[in-house]
Amino acid sequence: MKKRMLLWLLLPVLLFGCRQAPVQEAIASLPETTQMETTEETVPETTVEEKITVYPGATEYFLGEITDYSWEQEFPPEYVMIHFCSAVVNHFDDPYNHEYVRQTFTDAGVSVHYIVDREGQIFCYIPEDRSAWHAGYGTWLDDEKYTNKMNKYSIGIEVMGMGTYKEMSGYLHKWQYNKIPKEDLGFTDAQYAALKDLVADICQRHNIPLDRDHVIGHDEFSPKKNDPGELFQWDRIIPARGEPCPVTVETEFTVDDGLHVTVTNESQKEIDSIAIYTLWYDGEGQPVDVAGELAPNAMRDTLPEVGKEKISSYIFPTVEGATQAKQVVGAIYYTDGTSWEKENLSQWLIEHICITK
Ligand SMILES: [Zn+2]
Repeated sequence: MKKRMLLWLLLPVLLFGCRQAPVQEAIASLPETTQMETTEETVPETTVEEKITVYPGATEYFLGEITDYSWEQEFPPEYVMIHFCSAVVNHFDDPYNHEYVRQTFTDAGVSVHYIVDREGQIFCYIPEDRSAWHAGYGTWLDDEKYTNKMNKYSIGIEVMGMGTYKEMSGYLHKWQYNKIPKEDLGFTDAQYAALKDLVADICQRHNIPLDRDHVIGHDEFSPKKNDPGELFQWDRIIPARGEPCPVTVETEFTVDDGLHVTVTNESQKEIDSIAIYTLWYDGEGQPVDVAGELAPNAMRDTLPEVGKEKISSYIFPTVEGATQAKQVVGAIYYTDGTSWEKENLSQWLIEHICITK
């Protein structure tokens, strides 16, 4: 009996990642002129039939007809927004059952472009050419353009997961939260791996910078939201940038011996590999052409198996005609799946080539 009563009490809160009543949000953020109109009236059939963009790694599992639970896209997407969701409110013992989770969206009349299940499988609910109803009320950069209108400017991704007790307290009692198995909280390795590829692909196709200014959390757009929350590890999908390099690189160069590089790992984490760039110059400080991809005189090397070693040493043989070399760490990949990336790497390479001219 108790359980049944609780169910009724919690029934209105279906998508607990989105604290306000989702239906109202979706309706409230409809353009005023179309609020009472059906989507058929505002979307010409031909437009939607012609283009349907879905990430190749996703399974198409649209929420209904192609025009359901979405609007015709007015603007190219500028952001990617990450959420979490589950069906824990109505199905406490089976919160990640995809059909139950999917039902919460259709019941609430809300939508999202992609959903990533606990095994890392990606489903497309709404094609990228349509605006899904996932962002609701919120503000961004104090720009009126985005106020309560982020649905029009973003691709939404729901990751099946649950947050901290504080984040879940609007939906679950403490004793219930405590009963949730540890492995059901937060997010899985398979999800991070799948999400990383999905986000990178979306950003590349829509010319969205792959950084934290453009890949944002629902909780950042709307302070009343709490997803994806504190347990979500952003640096597993987007390399941390703008932070100082967590290793120091010391070099010693002689033409005969080559470039001796000593890397000292000052982070607390175990490094899997380091991408390092070497710029080669001749005696006059002119770049030596080595047909590099990012810059003509830049060679990219991956230092493997850095491991737990605090200090690792490498030798780079001198390229023909070079008497000077300069190095920079481009990216660091840790064994825990996180990474660090040098901000404006291309710019750094260009600057260092120009300086020597
Ligand atoms: Zn959300």
